[in-house]
Amino acid sequence: MSSIDALLERRYRVLGRNSPLFYERPLHLVRGEGVWLWDDAGRRYLDAYNNVPHVGHCHPHVVQAIAKQAATLNTHTRYLHEGIVAYAERLTATFDPSLSMLMLACTGSEANELALRIANVTSGGEGVICTNFAYHGNTRAVAQISTVFPPPEGFGPHIRAIPPPDSYRGLRGLSGTALEDAYVGEVRAAIESLAAQGIRLAAMLVCTLFSSEGLPHVPPGFMRRAVDLVRKAGGLYIADEVQGGFGRTGRHMWGHEQYGVVPDLVTLGKPMGNGHPISGVVGRADLIQEFGGKVMYFNTFGGNPVSCAAASAVLDVIQNEKLQENARVIGDYVVAGLERLAQRHSIIGEVRGKGMFFAADLVRDRATRAPAGAEAKRVINMMRDRGVLISRIGPHDNILKIRPPMPFTKEHADLLLATLDDVLGRL
Ligand code: PMP
Repeated sequence: MSSIDALLERRYRVLGRNSPLFYERPLHLVRGEGVWLWDDAGRRYLDAYNNVPHVGHCHPHVVQAIAKQAATLNTHTRYLHEGIVAYAERLTATFDPSLSMLMLACTGSEANELALRIANVTSGGEGVICTNFAYHGNTRAVAQISTVFPPPEGFGPHIRAIPPPDSYRGLRGLSGTALEDAYVGEVRAAIESLAAQGIRLAAMLVCTLFSSEGLPHVPPGFMRRAVDLVRKAGGLYIADEVQGGFGRTGRHMWGHEQYGVVPDLVTLGKPMGNGHPISGVVGRADLIQEFGGKVMYFNTFGGNPVSCAAASAVLDVIQNEKLQENARVIGDYVVAGLERLAQRHSIIGEVRGKGMFFAADLVRDRATRAPAGAEAKRVINMMRDRGVLISRIGPHDNILKIRPPMPFTKEHADLLLATLDDVLGRL
């Protein structure tokens, strides 16, 4: 038995066979640095998938900040601590001035759970609009809007999932303004159907990049018009920035900025501590104050001094290494490269990019746009065998998901593109 098989067997015994693992041949990773990962045999992989190590795996500035604070003091947010307050000031300064307060937690799931509770308490409503094929986390309330994995208990009467706004596989074959109108119509219909059941709207909660949904090109006026309707019905706009935040989109610090609509609440997670568990809700002061006056919310580990040191170090690196700018420049370079691959490989139906986040919609036939899910699965496994890590997303699991750590360079991009070219040529 190989060492991988032996570890796998032990894992199955203690974690069960349903604990998810990537790839047909699981990877046994032992070390990371920058955009590179090494397995137990010393083989190096280019990480073009992971967004948690936002500023690079094991970035020394973040590692040192964690180590220094862990060696000094680690308590929780019920004591005064300079580092916690300074981080909150620094983080909220990157948002629209109306988003001036922060609540801290540990995971993206907790941040979304908290944002939903704030919306419930402050709006007096229960109804939530989300999208199909979305992922927002694993708590009981948030599983109700993580529609990509329908919960066994089913969806409650307060949930309305609308189709994600997608210009490629447009609703009813529509395009242009008719398509935008149709998606806005879905939001209107969701609000009306909640009202018909006597359920008041609390919020619309969506990922700012619709990332699990496939990173679609969103009809330009959709978000503005959708949020207008939500607010008129008394609901809040909650922007999930767990994937789209911290400069990922290149042109903005926060994914929601691309739509020109300021959210009421914003949820943050994964990249926030570069792997150290910290998450948060940034929101309007009136909402957070009202919620805090009615609900005693405390999170033992959320935003402790070590977590805030890690998160603050992440902001340092984003600034010092100009990573948002890098996401824009390298992002454009990768998109151009993927477009060139699309000219050579007809399986690529559409290329999508938002800064340092890319998707390629694989199709069996460009005319029918029939999704190539099985082929996408082969591609990611073949990429892994050739030392490049990517994944796949979307309702048909046919969309390549490429979302590297932010310090991805032209050389890394060239390796990614050359490997993908080779793999697509061998399908
Ligand atoms: N929101 C989005 C958009 C996510 O991608 C994820 C995690 N993939 C979450 C929320 C949940 O975060 P966590 O796993 O930290 O609970």
